[in-house]
Amino acid sequence: MSKLWTKEKTKKGLKLEAAMLVTATLLLLVINILVFIINVSDLTKVILLMISWFYFMVALIYSMYVERKTGMYECIRCHSIYTPKLSRYIFSINLATSRLLRCPYCKQKSWHEKVYIEGKHQKL
Ligand SMILES: [Zn+2]
Repeated sequence: MSKLWTKEKTKKGLKLEAAMLVTATLLLLVINILVFIINVSDLTKVILLMISWFYFMVALIYSMYVERKTGMYECIRCHSIYTPKLSRYIFSINLATSRLLRCPYCKQKSWHEKVYIEGKHQKL
């Protein structure tokens, strides 16, 4: 298991992750629409598109890094704590600090809370 972050670093990391994903998505949408409306050279269009896609990729890679450092979940039914597989992680729905996952222990699908572990686990 990779070394987990402290609780404060986790909170900061999650905030930065959310901010980067939102701004990257907006920038990507706005620039991709703008290049078809505004009248600039093809080279400028290509550069603008590359910048927006590059920032979007950086935000995605950063979010995966943060999630790997903070990704422990607690099953609300059997209270087992586990790290979900990356594929499950990518394709599951999430709301703030909870995620719809199937527990590897009791096999029940439910909203699992992200937990921070240091000595004993606690909710963020
Ligand atoms: Zn469970």
